[in-house]
Amino acid sequence: MHLKSLTLKGFKSFATATTLKLEPGITCVVGPNGSGKSNVVDAIAWVLGEQGAKALRGGKMDDVIFAGTSGRAPLGRAEVTLTIDNTDGALPIEYTEVSITRRLFRSGDGEYEINGDRCRLLDIQELLSDSGIGREMHVIVGQGQLDAVLHAKPEDRRAFIEEAAGVLKHRKRKEKALRKLDAMQANLNRVQDLTGELR
Ligand code: ATP
Repeated sequence: MHLKSLTLKGFKSFATATTLKLEPGITCVVGPNGSGKSNVVDAIAWVLGEQGAKALRGGKMDDVIFAGTSGRAPLGRAEVTLTIDNTDGALPIEYTEVSITRRLFRSGDGEYEINGDRCRLLDIQELLSDSGIGREMHVIVGQGQLDAVLHAKPEDRRAFIEEAAGVLKHRKRKEKALRKLDAMQANLNRVQDLTGELR
């Protein structure tokens, strides 16, 4: 499995649709200061579901939409597609190539797609959760983040290791199941109260 290509359209400084082809192995992005190198990395984090504007070096989420320049009007939406080679079947889906798309409109509406089919962010997270890539998998190490890991408290460091080991997915499922159980228990209590009243 490897990242095959990344297409940015209306994302930050990439007003015109731009596709970067990636080969297996190491890819270096080289360019002058302010030319958009970090925006490429932000696009990968964003398409994988990043929800924090700060993590994307912005103040609010719609800062990722091309804001315009002196020669070009602002755009109404940002779109990023990440295509992953899945010929080794590392992702649990019946496709040898998987494209993940995220779109955001100025209205605040957003959408996700897997191979052109609308889906939820949760579907993307589940698809990627055992692959080692994903928003919370620490695959993107920003400037200064290594220091943060080295100086983290033991419990925070444990969280990094758990995520790397793939425990996160099961912890999230457990939390979801516990929330459902709580809701079910509340319903049960209500039914018991009502049957008590009817006796
Ligand atoms: P450096 O080498 O200094 O770290 P860089 O190549 O990583 O620079 P980026 O930080 O990726 O550069 O890009 C910064 C540029 O992106 C700035 O010129 C900024 O104006 C532009 N930019 C960021 N967000 C938007 C946006 N929403 N619309 C238009 N341009 C944007």
